[in-house]
Amino acid sequence: MLNRRAGVRDRCLACGFRYERSDDNYFMGAMFFNFMIGATLFMVALFSIIAFSGPDIPWDMLGYVIPILLGVCMVILYPFSKVVWLGVDVMMRPVTADELYVPTPVVARVDETSGQVI
Ligand SMILES: [Zn+2]
Repeated sequence: MLNRRAGVRDRCLACGFRYERSDDNYFMGAMFFNFMIGATLFMVALFSIIAFSGPDIPWDMLGYVIPILLGVCMVILYPFSKVVWLGVDVMMRPVTADELYVPTPVVARVDETSGQVI
């Protein structure tokens, strides 16, 4: 589903399933999962730092570093959020045959006199 640039492909390479199942901002649902993943990371990072930093909790550092890391993580994880969103959506609304694209074979005609492909 993801390509090398961590972007989401348009279709499945095997079956032709179009990942963006509707035209009305389909991947807005991925924003929800991106936020949930980001909030979970934020909570884990915050409680880990508090737990391991002893009595001297670096509150000033936390105020700067955690939001920056959270923003970077959410940008990096956004393609994966799309995968999670699509997985949940497919569980809720199974894929129908209409959504699968069956490519038609390319037919080339050869001019018999010149031997060139038309
Ligand atoms: Zn497929």
